[in-house]
Amino acid sequence: MVFEWPMNVAHCAICGDDNVRRISKKGQFNEEVNVVLCKNDGFVYLSPRWDEAGYKKYYSQKYSSIFPQFDNQEDLIEEPYERVVSRINPHLKNTPSNALSIGAGKGCVLRLLKRKFENIDCSAIEPSEECRKYLSENFGYSILADDIGSNWDDGIEDVFDIIVLRHVLEHLLDPIDSLNKVRNSLNDSGIAYIAVPDMMYPKGSLKRYFFRAPHVSYFSKSTLSYFLNKACLEIIEIKEQDGELWCIVKPGNEDKTKTIPADNASIQLNMIRKYKKSQRISEFKSFIARLIGRE
Ligand SMILES: [Zn+2]
Repeated sequence: MVFEWPMNVAHCAICGDDNVRRISKKGQFNEEVNVVLCKNDGFVYLSPRWDEAGYKKYYSQKYSSIFPQFDNQEDLIEEPYERVVSRINPHLKNTPSNALSIGAGKGCVLRLLKRKFENIDCSAIEPSEECRKYLSENFGYSILADDIGSNWDDGIEDVFDIIVLRHVLEHLLDPIDSLNKVRNSLNDSGIAYIAVPDMMYPKGSLKRYFFRAPHVSYFSKSTLSYFLNKACLEIIEIKEQDGELWCIVKPGNEDKTKTIPADNASIQLNMIRKYKKSQRISEFKSFIARLIGRE
């Protein structure tokens, strides 16, 4: 199924300019995925791209058919979710009394937290209707909202001990807005876990796997740190690990002296060039395989 919607130029979320170098025109599933790199600061993002209405339509029409958000393997809790809890755990000063998972899916992280902290009160924000139903009917978790971009933080300022945002931020058209909401709804001793794919250490073919229409931002340690600081989230721990960039943050204040390193654009561009070069042989093999119909 081809999804069609007009695309518009998006300005860099860091500097506001449209001073870009094109990195790719195609992404996973051979979709039109216009990846650009901002020459000012090295932020990698999609432009032109769909607007909010376009993405809403894409998620409701196509995304759920490609990536089913709900399956019947009810009790399967995979290793990546256990990793989230083990990364959060050393930073907890007290027994947490509540947790919010944004883009909760089937609640794997929340269920693991509940196993560890029996009395923890769990809340979720989740776009998939099936998942929302599953979370509230089977586990009694509170559903705060279906739309991550909505004003779900109204009236719940300074509430949460733990907020989890695992592989969600790269999907959002306005990452600072969502991070601001995370900051507002964390209590003073609360922490948030944020994980995204790492643009400095990508995995697989850029054109056929890593770049994707639903991923509008491609963060690196320096660009993610910039957004966190803007949203007044202070980094306690940040790691580049196995193609993933993850961090633990707490409420803080913006450090106005912090800027993106001046050579960030050239570092990111050189890395992409080098990576593309290293992928040439496997890209060629896969091209031949597709040509003779073996892939
Ligand atoms: Zn920029």
